[in-house]
Amino acid sequence: MGLLFVMTFVSMTSIDISTNSLASICSGTWLNKVGDEPISQLYYDSRKSIQPEGAVFFALITPHSNGHLFLGDVVNAGVKTLVISSDANVSELKNVNILKVENTLLAMQQLATFKRKQFKNQVIGITGSNGKTVVKEWLHQLLMPDYNICRSPKSYNSQLGVPLSVWQLELQHNLGIFEAGISEMGEMENLAEIIQPNWGIFTSLGLAHANGFPSKLEKAREKFKLFETCEKVFYPLDQEKINTVAEEFRLKHPDCKLITWSEKHSETDLKVQIQVNGQLTEVVCITQKGTFNLKLPFTDRPSIENAITCTLVLLELNYSFKIISERVQDLTALKMRLELKKAINNCSLINDAYSLDLDSLGYALEFLSRQNQHPKKTLILSDFPEDNTIAEKLYGKLVALLRNFPLQKIIYVGNQMQPFLENLPVKEVHQFDNTSSLIEHFNTLEFSNEAILIKGARKFGFERIAQRLEERIHETLMEIDLDALLHNYRFVKTKLSPKTKTMVMVKALSYGSGSYEISALMAQNGADYLAVAYPDEGVLLRTAGIKLPIMVLNTEVGQFEMCFRYKLEPVIYSFRTLNACIEEFGGNDKPVNIHIEFDTGMRRLGFNVGDVISLGKQLISNPKLQVCSVFSHLASGEDLNDNSYTQQQFSLFEKACEALQKITQKPFLRHILNTAGIFNYPNNAYEMVRLGIGLYGIDSSGKHQAQLLQVGRLKTIISQIRTLQIGDSLGYNRRFTAKEVTKVGTLPIGYADGISRDFGLGKISFLINGKLAPTIGSICMDMCMVNLSGIEAQEGDEVLIFGEENPIYNTAKQSNKIPYEILTGISGRVKRVYIKT
Ligand SMILES: *Cc1c(COP(=O)(O)O)cnc(C)c1O
Repeated sequence: MGLLFVMTFVSMTSIDISTNSLASICSGTWLNKVGDEPISQLYYDSRKSIQPEGAVFFALITPHSNGHLFLGDVVNAGVKTLVISSDANVSELKNVNILKVENTLLAMQQLATFKRKQFKNQVIGITGSNGKTVVKEWLHQLLMPDYNICRSPKSYNSQLGVPLSVWQLELQHNLGIFEAGISEMGEMENLAEIIQPNWGIFTSLGLAHANGFPSKLEKAREKFKLFETCEKVFYPLDQEKINTVAEEFRLKHPDCKLITWSEKHSETDLKVQIQVNGQLTEVVCITQKGTFNLKLPFTDRPSIENAITCTLVLLELNYSFKIISERVQDLTALKMRLELKKAINNCSLINDAYSLDLDSLGYALEFLSRQNQHPKKTLILSDFPEDNTIAEKLYGKLVALLRNFPLQKIIYVGNQMQPFLENLPVKEVHQFDNTSSLIEHFNTLEFSNEAILIKGARKFGFERIAQRLEERIHETLMEIDLDALLHNYRFVKTKLSPKTKTMVMVKALSYGSGSYEISALMAQNGADYLAVAYPDEGVLLRTAGIKLPIMVLNTEVGQFEMCFRYKLEPVIYSFRTLNACIEEFGGNDKPVNIHIEFDTGMRRLGFNVGDVISLGKQLISNPKLQVCSVFSHLASGEDLNDNSYTQQQFSLFEKACEALQKITQKPFLRHILNTAGIFNYPNNAYEMVRLGIGLYGIDSSGKHQAQLLQVGRLKTIISQIRTLQIGDSLGYNRRFTAKEVTKVGTLPIGYADGISRDFGLGKISFLINGKLAPTIGSICMDMCMVNLSGIEAQEGDEVLIFGEENPIYNTAKQSNKIPYEILTGISGRVKRVYIKT
C-alpha cells in the first residue's frame, strides 16, 4: 500500500457531501448504517494516524495489499464509514457505516467525480510523457499571486492519485490544476471523467516506445482523451505526433481552440527563438501582439520547454509581457534529481530505485561516471518492467548503452536479461533471481570504495538494497547543497545585465559553507572575482589551486608581501596602508594589483571622498600600483525606507570614481552592491557586484526569498531520550523544571559547534520526524536538550537544526540573530559534506 493520504479543508467553504449520499454516488448497498456526517477525508492506508471525524476508509485491493485485512484497526482508530468490496471480515464490526460496492477504487473515483461536478470554476488538466509535474508546479507558482489554486500534490496522477487530488477541490478555489498519467490503453477515459478539464495541456511525447501502447501515435491519441471536455488545448507544434492527433481532434471538436508554440513554424501562437548563454537561456517570444524576451535561470532542454508551455498559458490568460517575463524568470528549478549519499565501507550511493527505463538509466549512468572520487563504478540493475515480447530489442539497446560507460561491476537481479549477460562489457557480473537472494548474499559482494548506482523497476523493491548500503549518520554534519548554491547564483544573475561582472564573497570560509569547494564551483560557473576578508583565507584558496583573481578586504601593513606572492589583490582603504604598500612595492619591477575602497556612508573602512585628489596624485606618481577596481559598501541596501541615504551613497560613489578616473586616466571596475543591493538597486550595479549571502539562500531584502534555495543543512541525531517527572529539573543551574511529565532528548551538538547559548530555554526549535522540538534548559558546550513531548522519536533519529524544511531565517528570527551570524558561527569541528549532481 502507498503512503497515507490526508486531506483537510475548512468546512465553511467546503463542497458538502455527506455519508448519506455515498450509496447512490458509488452505486453501493449499505450492509450497516448507523449515522450521517459530512465527509472530510478519504483514507486508504490504515497504518498511519487517522483523524476519524468525517473519515471514509476505502478498502483497496492492490497486487501487494488488501485493505480489507485492516478494517478492525481502522474502526478502532475511530473511523465511522467503510467502503468495501468483500464482506468476509465485517461481521464483528459494530456501530459503523459499511457500504459494499463492486470495486472500491472505482467507488473512490465516482466520489471524486461527483465532487468535481459541484465545482464550477476553471480546471486545467495536464498530460504528457514528461514535464507534467513541473508544468503543474510552475503554473501554480506563476498564477499563485492571482488565483486560489487547488492542485495535485507532488505527482499524484494515477488512477488512485487523481481522485485523491480532485477530492481536494473546495469552493474557495477558483482554479484547479491536475495532472493525469497513464501507462496503458483505456486508462485515460477514467481520469478524464474525474478531472473534466476546461483547458488541457499536452507537455511532450516521450521518445521511448512504451509498453502498454501499440504505437507512439496510439499513445498520443489515448492521452488526448483527457481533453474531450476542453475549450482550449495547448501543445508543442513541433512534436509531429502530437500535432497529428491534435488535427484529428480538431475535426471532432471544431469548437475547441488549439493553441501552440513552435521553434520552426510561423503559423503558431507563440514562435520562440532559444539561445543558451552560459548559465542562462534567453528566449525571444514572438506573438501576434508583439515580441518580448524571457530570461531563464537554467539551460536544460526539458526545463526550457516546460517554461515555454507555461508562458503560452499565461499569454492566453492575458497577462502582460512584462509580468510574464518577471514571473517566468523567477521560476525555481524543481528538485527531481539524483543525490549522492555516503554508504558503507567508504562507498558512495546513487539511489534511483523507483523507476527503470533506458532514458533515465542513461542519465543516471552519466552521473555515476562523473564520481571521480571512486575509480570503481558499480551498477545494480533489475529487469525492465516491460514484458518479454520486446526483450531482444530492449536489451540490445541496453548493452549498447552500457558500452558507453566505464563500469567495473554489474549486479543484476532478474532473468529476462540472462541471454544478454555474456555481451556485457564488464568483467565482474553477478546475477540473482530476486532481491531477497541478493540481500542474502550481500556480504559476498564485497562493496568497498566504489560508486554504486541502484536502478531498478519498482516491483523489485530495490530500496531494501539501498537500506543495506546506506550509512546512518552518527554525527553532526553540515550538508552543503552545491546545486542549490548554483541555482541561487543563476537566479541572482537573472536580475543583472549579462555584462555585469560578479565578485563572489567567500570570506569566513564562504559564510561557514566550506572553503575551496565553493570557490572552485564558482570558478567553473563563470564568476569573475572572489573576495576574502584576510590574506590567509586567500592563501588557502591559492594552495587549493583556485586561479580566479582574489580581492582581500582587510590587509594589514606587513602582509603585502604575502599577498602579492600569492597573487592576492589587497584593498587599500587608508593613507596609512597606501603608504606602507608604496614603500614596499612602489619601486617594484612588476606591477601589483590593488583595489581602492571609499567610505560613502558605512563608516567602516575606506578613504573619505574628500581625499580623492590627494589619493589620485599618489597613485599617478606610483604607476606600479595598478588599480583594478574602486568600490564602496552600502549601509542599508536591504532597507528601502533608507532609500534616500542609499541614493546619496551612490551619488558620492559616482563622484569619487569620476574624480579618480580624471586623475589616473586608467580604466577600473566600479562596484557597490551586496546581495540586498542587487535585489533592490539593480540599476546601480556599475561594472561589478559583490554577491554574498544570497548565494547561500538568504535574501535580506526579503524580495526574492521564495526563489532562493537553502544551501546548508545542519543535522545531528538524538543520543538519548528520557522522561522527566513533575518537579524534575534539567541541565546546568537547573534552569528548567518539569511542570508535567516531559519527554526530552539529548543531542550531540552545543555552543562549541555554533549552537549559541542564546538558543536555549526554548528560544529555537529543531525539526524531528516532521515536528518542531524546542530547546529545553541551557545549551551545554557539546550537547543540548530538546523537548520531545508529543513527538514520536527514538534514540538515533535524525534532527534537522536548520535546512530547507526548517529555514535558517526562522531560526535567526526566533533567536534575535541574523542568518550571517548563525551560518558563520558553525564551528570548524562540524564536518561539511558536499552534495552535487
Ligand atoms: C560581506 C561583504 C559583502 C557581501 O554582502 P552580502 O550581504 O552577504 O551579500 C559585500 N561587500 C563587502 C565589502 C562585504 O564585506
